[in-house]
Amino acid sequence: MSDTATNSTTPKFTDLGLSESLLKAVRDKGYDTPSPIQAQAIPAVLSGRDVMAAAQTGTGKTAGFTLPLLQKLSSNKGTKVGTNNVRALVLTPTRELAAQVSESIATYGKYLNLHSTVVFGGVKINPQMMRLRQGVDVLVATPGRLMDLYNQNAVKFSQLEVLILDEADRMLDMGFIRDIKKIIALLPKHRQNLLFSATFSADIRALAKGLVHKPLEISVNPENSTAEKVTQWLMAVDKKRKPAVLTHLIKENSWRQVLVFTKTKHGANKLTKYLEAEGLTAAAIHGNKSQGARTKALASFKDGRVQVLVATDIAARGIDIDLLPNVVNFDLPNVPEDYVHRIGRTARAGNTGQAVSLVCADELNLLWDIEHVIQQHIERKTLDKFVPANALGESRAIRPLKAKRPKKVHQAGSNSKKTEHKDGQHLSKGHQTQSNRSNTNNKPAGNGGKPRRAKPYANKNTQGNTNKANP
Ligand code: AMP
Repeated sequence: MSDTATNSTTPKFTDLGLSESLLKAVRDKGYDTPSPIQAQAIPAVLSGRDVMAAAQTGTGKTAGFTLPLLQKLSSNKGTKVGTNNVRALVLTPTRELAAQVSESIATYGKYLNLHSTVVFGGVKINPQMMRLRQGVDVLVATPGRLMDLYNQNAVKFSQLEVLILDEADRMLDMGFIRDIKKIIALLPKHRQNLLFSATFSADIRALAKGLVHKPLEISVNPENSTAEKVTQWLMAVDKKRKPAVLTHLIKENSWRQVLVFTKTKHGANKLTKYLEAEGLTAAAIHGNKSQGARTKALASFKDGRVQVLVATDIAARGIDIDLLPNVVNFDLPNVPEDYVHRIGRTARAGNTGQAVSLVCADELNLLWDIEHVIQQHIERKTLDKFVPANALGESRAIRPLKAKRPKKVHQAGSNSKKTEHKDGQHLSKGHQTQSNRSNTNNKPAGNGGKPRRAKPYANKNTQGNTNKANP
């Protein structure tokens, strides 16, 4: 079946078989040593093997697949890439992650003569079609937009050499399984497959069965474990005092950069206004914001002009900020695995960080679910000033995790089971069921369960640019 890679002593980047052009780009980035996922994935990908890697965001997984991919494509540049063809396809669940992966490809490939581009929903399709016309070495795409482009004959796969699924677990959570299966069916049989996922759940294994061939399995994090370097604690508070508690924590502790998660878009907007009225600089990022507004908010947060970024789960996926020190769960997520994704925003690439949750009495069920998934109790702290009138109930004893029975993958993406978001974001039934089960007082995630169609708009900074890797 599959091999499992073992950790040995950490090699240097120069030991991994990368070309001088890539090593120079890595040096420019200031990386000293490869992260564990890079040390294992780079030689495996270069050898031509299929790879299944369980790695959360923050482990350096993007460079783990990008560096060897670029090396393979540049050393195998014999055949010219034809009109509308692509040689490597990277599928990601969200626009933000797609943009970020594309940025990494441009960064690491800056001394190579390769072309890459990125396509995702929510922006005009025509410029993307134009960029694909000349053919590209690497295409980064969200599944929904890729299918739209394929249906308009704007992309062809006959020259495809490598397929990469990034954050595959998230793509399944978001209901992309049908699109992914359709795309896989369009690809040449002979190709290399790389599958990256935060966890190897039963669903991921079912997907992998029809995808990877004798893969090398790499795991740098135990399933669903919260990053060890994240200090987690929670404060039991009354629901209506959460904004005041958050403001107090930010001001008292002089937090310079805080990523705050809310459950709904409306909640994100409301909280942002509150924080601004309290004299803090804040911005909201969620699915109702235009891609331009999202990009701007993220840039302001990264460069320190905005102190607090308030985000919903889907919008925050893919956010990568070096040294992000504070993550706050203003609302607990409906899906306990999202807690793991959220706190994975901090303590990235070996840094430390803290994740703070503000928990009100009617979120106790959600807290139980989270503590079960992370297999630990979250430390509770109190502030005399904010002792809740409605006390938060006790945590439950931690029960061992049971292995989940695999779902039938072919059903997961059927229309009857999902609420469709045209920009490539779906709410799967799993999310809604969880929400109904364990959430006592909230509406269906985000938009009241109504189908939502992203408005098309143009923004020249955000439609994705073709990266000519050689400056
Ligand atoms: P990723 O898990 O791919 O989202 O990467 C997380 C962060 O780690 C990004 O900010 C990268 O720039 C950074 N990173 C990736 N590889 C290394 C490395 N070898 N040394 C230090 N930082 C790295």
